Amino acid sequence: MLDIIRLLPDSVANQIAAGEVVQRPASAVKELLENAVDAGATSIRLIIKEAGKTLIQVIDNGCGMSERDARMCFERHATSKIQTVHDLMAIRTLGFRGEALASIASIAQVEIKSKKTEDEVGTSVRIDGSDFKEQLPATCPDGTSIQVKNLFFNVPARRNFLKSNTLELKYIIDEFFRVALVRHDIGFTFYNNDKILYQVVPGNLKQRLVALFGNQYNQRLIPVNLETDIVNIAGYIGKPEFVKKIRGEQFFFANDRFIKSPYFHHAIENAFRELIPKDAIPSYFLFLEVDPKTIDVNIHPTKTEINFQDSKGIYSLVHTAIRQAIGKFNIAPTLNFDREMSMENPTMSDDRPVIQPTITIDPEYNPFEKKVRSQSELSLDPRERSNQENWQKIFDPLRNFPANNISGAERTTVNILSDLDKETSRPGIFTAFQVQNRFLVTYTLTGIVIMDQQNAHERILYENLLREKENHEIVAQKLLLPQTIRVNTADIELFTENRKEFEALGFEIEDFGKNTYLVNSVPAGCSNPDLAGLLEDILANIRESTGEIRAHSNIQVAGSLAKSLAVKRGSRLQPEEINNLVEGLLSCKVPDVTIDGKPTMIKVSFDELHKTFK
Ligand code: ADP
Ligand code: MG
Repeated sequence: MLDIIRLLPDSVANQIAAGEVVQRPASAVKELLENAVDAGATSIRLIIKEAGKTLIQVIDNGCGMSERDARMCFERHATSKIQTVHDLMAIRTLGFRGEALASIASIAQVEIKSKKTEDEVGTSVRIDGSDFKEQLPATCPDGTSIQVKNLFFNVPARRNFLKSNTLELKYIIDEFFRVALVRHDIGFTFYNNDKILYQVVPGNLKQRLVALFGNQYNQRLIPVNLETDIVNIAGYIGKPEFVKKIRGEQFFFANDRFIKSPYFHHAIENAFRELIPKDAIPSYFLFLEVDPKTIDVNIHPTKTEINFQDSKGIYSLVHTAIRQAIGKFNIAPTLNFDREMSMENPTMSDDRPVIQPTITIDPEYNPFEKKVRSQSELSLDPRERSNQENWQKIFDPLRNFPANNISGAERTTVNILSDLDKETSRPGIFTAFQVQNRFLVTYTLTGIVIMDQQNAHERILYENLLREKENHEIVAQKLLLPQTIRVNTADIELFTENRKEFEALGFEIEDFGKNTYLVNSVPAGCSNPDLAGLLEDILANIRESTGEIRAHSNIQVAGSLAKSLAVKRGSRLQPEEINNLVEGLLSCKVPDVTIDGKPTMIKVSFDELHKTFK
């Protein structure tokens, strides 16, 4: 009997592998870009012609290859990135399977030019469909340049399968984005048919996002950040009001590797639920960082699928991270009375009234002095003044939000679309004004909003306090002179009941005998000269509390403190304070009502206005 089983020649084996690794020009682009990144390049050029069908070239300034390596790299399973099975557990490079170049060379005409810095001359190698053609010394810059010509020239079936140039180019751009997003520290230039398609300089992630997707993304992104023992999640999501109905802005990376994960996509979609229309897809650019030992990246030839040891846990953390991020910055439900409107064409801006109030500023005026009891008005010594500044820092509703980064100059040049961005997101500076020292008036994409300053501030302070408490960010401030306070006998019980809560918020309280206490520190910034009065106030608030805070004894103190500290009706506010309040309220989790259930604002939609003024 004749034996019939034979080992396949390498060229055939490589072509079979190529079927998995290189499905289209974009796959070759991915592999070449990843190799350049792995080589430690700081600058990478990608050159393609006819959507990569005739030429794909990647030029990097990375470590380069020796004469032998430049030949070896085309062998199957030839890699410099791992040596033992053990290494598979700690992979940090993008490549490691050592089959990309072998595969590509089996189905294209490839020329490599490479030089290591320490070498005097470089080397060039030419291979046609796995056939080694020649290797020659070459004068070339440090780094590597790989040209891949006529992809699938020897596999017509594959070549005929390719889609239109437009579509293949789209796939290439996707791959380019996946690398360029994660390695925002690398400069990239991308030429398509001799024209520059993208040119991006090293920068941070946000700068890279803006460079790739356009300036309007400056106002469209919400940062995501969650650090836990099993995973760190960072990146950005698109604000809910900018969701699109087409895919294309969903990027998920694990240990700096782009991955496709329907499972985690679901977690993100879930987190956006009810904030966006059903058929819309949220944008996200998320980076997971996990211990390499807890993932298996070697389950798919293109390495875009990964097994996570604790995928369930990560699922819920991704969900939490997104909810948190939206919660912090969520403005969509507040601003879009009719959510569908925000999906419409932005042409309505033409007939929108322009509100440009003039505000007289009294630089001496401090709207917050009203919160301080009468004694303070007599004694504005420097210590107190700094306390007050501190107070504003601590309780500034916008402290935890990025500043409105639209400079005056940019304002005049932005196009209608990004003008609208600003308004949907948050009104810019001076787009809100105060009426009767009590109401704050502003407008958004969909209507006019009127707030009550005191109610609004209560809500903001309350949410800030709770968040700080939750994140253990409460800053206590030592008093220079500890103050003694006497609690009314009637209040003693209430006070003892809530004493732990006071302490959790930064009050450091010592027994001083018979209804008297020594207060050593207070929540930073709220060092009120009349601590006893403040305390009385808070206790009274607790007693009278209704709604949200009544139900939860553990947040009564925070709620009552917020009420005591909130800027009062009748205080004239400065423009920044007006804006801080407006933006702060719109960024609250529950912006519409105070903790007692009183309204904080009313909204009149343009729709209603149009109907009224027919
Ligand atoms: P892998 O990336 O999985 O190791 P490849 O077939 O993509 O396998 O590459 C094989 C080897 O060739 C790499 O391990 C690396 O040593 C070398 N190599 C490929 N591209 C470059 C490059 N641009 N610069 C330096 N070395 C490279
Ligand atoms: Mg590789």
